[in-house]
Amino acid sequence: MNDQLRQLPQIEAMLTSPTIGALIYTHSRDEVVAALRLTLANLRRAITKGDLVQLPDFVGDAFADRLRTVIEQERRLNLRAVVNATGIIIHTNLGRARLAPQAIEAMRDVGLNPSNLELNLTTGKRGSRYDHAEALICELTGAEAALIVNNCAAAVVLGLMGTAMGRTVVASRGELIEIGGSFRLPDVIAQSGAILREVGATNKTRLSDYAEAINDDTAVLLKSHTSNFKIVGFTSAPARRDLAKLAKDRNLILMEDLGSGVLIDLSPYGMTDEPVVADILRAGVDVVMFSGDKLLGGPQAGIIAGKADVIAKLRSHPLLRALRIDKLSLAALEATLRLYRAPHDPFQTIPVLKMLSEPLADVQARANALAAQLDGLVTTLVIPSDAYVGGGSLPQQGLQSVAVSIAHPDMTAETLADALRRAPVPVIGRIHQDQVLLDMRTVTDAELPLVVDAIGHARPQ
Ligand SMILES: *Cc1c(COP(=O)(O)O)cnc(C)c1O
Repeated sequence: MNDQLRQLPQIEAMLTSPTIGALIYTHSRDEVVAALRLTLANLRRAITKGDLVQLPDFVGDAFADRLRTVIEQERRLNLRAVVNATGIIIHTNLGRARLAPQAIEAMRDVGLNPSNLELNLTTGKRGSRYDHAEALICELTGAEAALIVNNCAAAVVLGLMGTAMGRTVVASRGELIEIGGSFRLPDVIAQSGAILREVGATNKTRLSDYAEAINDDTAVLLKSHTSNFKIVGFTSAPARRDLAKLAKDRNLILMEDLGSGVLIDLSPYGMTDEPVVADILRAGVDVVMFSGDKLLGGPQAGIIAGKADVIAKLRSHPLLRALRIDKLSLAALEATLRLYRAPHDPFQTIPVLKMLSEPLADVQARANALAAQLDGLVTTLVIPSDAYVGGGSLPQQGLQSVAVSIAHPDMTAETLADALRRAPVPVIGRIHQDQVLLDMRTVTDAELPLVVDAIGHARPQ
């Protein structure tokens, strides 16, 4: 072991070898030194650990190639594109909604150039960033007014801080959700300075439960969409219309945390459980909060839409600035919202909607094409699969899909899945019964060569 440690060369000495010198010429001295440091440190660690280490020829071409690979890996961004072959369309760990090219174009324009973010071009006076997309949101949802913040979590916090600080919020026990990342509604209500008054039972809450809980301290009736779970069986909750009437009669605000905001009816595609924002406002809910990067198909954002007097109050809240949306997200959001209007068909132009509405035959054709291209590399089987909307929407509703199941002669499913994650463009699938499944509903035709490349170069580490 000590012998091998002694055989590791000095970095300064290596820099004078012709092969390494050539690398400095094609790359840069700093990168070559860093790659040498990293590679030698790895070897030293392996030797010290007692692993059986075969020392390379440090001045040979193979070692120079190894350094070149390290340099190229070090040049890659940490945050980068992957192929989502999980079958979960809005995957929070994979960045949620893909954006439409029009949204990217808008971000590019506003990112590369100065913009009228807070300048009113008509008057030449100071404008507000909140004005750019407000009219569009109102048009698409029927709201009187709207406000956009950093994300839906921020929207809920602002909504509660702005209307119920020091007062009581009445919410059903069946709707006190945790949405992941330890965002728990009861804790959020408490942190917003409001006092939670829980009513009803886990499975059943009646209108009278809400009515009996209201007193002089009550400010808000809060509904929340139980987006990531479903209680089935002996259940009931009052209709929004009835809650709205109760709120109106008692001079309270009816607020709804919707999570995934759907702007158009998805029932033609079999998705009947996801409420449409316009319907919720029409039923009498005063303000609704929803995400920009879930079913809406845009960037991370939190949208608050509803009654003008409530929105005006939130808009003047001193903490709004701490929750505000940035210009790039705002640009992408406006561009995405415009794709919901004529002449566009949102099911063609918004990637999330296109993916969930893609005909099964097209998904099947993509699976067949991939299997054909993998012929000779791995064993494939084209099988039916269930895809999901994800992002806390429609947790139970599987979307018919097709997956390519792959098995490698020399690798277990785990090893193959690891190798696919290490590809230049990582491919993320799922493992089922010792096979790697690549679901084709969340992969585009343009991504197939990346998948073939990742599989073709997959090696156990
Ligand atoms: C997803 C979700 C949120 C949080 O949305 P973000 O945009 O991630 O902050 C809040 N409430 C519900 C019901 C959700 O589903």
